[in-house]
Amino acid sequence: MYKISPISKLTLDGRDFFIKRDDIIDPYLSGNKYRKLYTLLQTPKNTYTKVISYGGIQSNAMLALAAICKHKEWQFTYYTKKISPIVKAQEYGNYYEALSLGMEVVELQYDMYKEYISSLRLSLDENTLLIDQGGADTDAKEGLEVLALEIREQFKQKEFSHIKAISTPSGTGTTALYLALSLPEYTIYTVPCIGDSEYLKVQMQALHSIPKNLIILEPKKKYHFAKLYDEFLEIYNKLKESGIEFDLLYAPSMWLSLLGETSQSVLYVHSGGLSGNVSMLERYKHKC
Ligand SMILES: *Cc1c(COP(=O)(O)O)cnc(C)c1O
Repeated sequence: MYKISPISKLTLDGRDFFIKRDDIIDPYLSGNKYRKLYTLLQTPKNTYTKVISYGGIQSNAMLALAAICKHKEWQFTYYTKKISPIVKAQEYGNYYEALSLGMEVVELQYDMYKEYISSLRLSLDENTLLIDQGGADTDAKEGLEVLALEIREQFKQKEFSHIKAISTPSGTGTTALYLALSLPEYTIYTVPCIGDSEYLKVQMQALHSIPKNLIILEPKKKYHFAKLYDEFLEIYNKLKESGIEFDLLYAPSMWLSLLGETSQSVLYVHSGGLSGNVSMLERYKHKC
């Protein structure tokens, strides 16, 4: 495991970008899930016996939690909606990997899901930790402060000292928000990948008021999360040809906005998520 993830250079459409390589921290626990779960990773084994969480069945946060729980020898139970037989049969993807790391899954009926998830919080014992969907939690702050310190240190090097802007895509917005709060001297660009900007702002404001240096770029087109778009696959392929693979859910929209709406030097914080690409590429193959 890297102590400090390096910064690589990438040229896209004739423009130089810098990439904070959080994708290569660990095969299961990488990207922003590593940063967001940093506090949990530092927690002594005997603090808990069990971790529970909930959300989508191909979630990157789910896989990261499964990896931590295996490492800590904590039981890990994940609540999700009914899983399709197709996903169950796949021998790749986050669900498959997480099962192999010892995750237990509880499938909930669609109409019971919300109520059941709310009730989880009420029946916790002291040895059990509940982690909200996607790891959207004020605990994420510590890990992102560590990331901020690394960036600040690395930016002292001459080759990076001209960079004034940083970018990373948003789901819950936890990563972008805490990064912006930890690095007030830099502009932080993000895009909403789940819902629109208004929804993203509400999610962020539940954690902290939004600082001035955090700029939410509005995608040109309304993209729905986990849907397939030709321009997403196209930019994914271009980036891969330039030397670095990015995820197919969040990164494409961030890159399209960066290319379309910014012109200065940008450090892109790689948010990981490559373990989900196999199933996404499989879906693209069968598209149309
Ligand atoms: C989870 C995730 C995000 C979104 O992170 P938030 O902190 O929820 O905004 C972005 N990119 C990848 C690859 C992710 O797995």
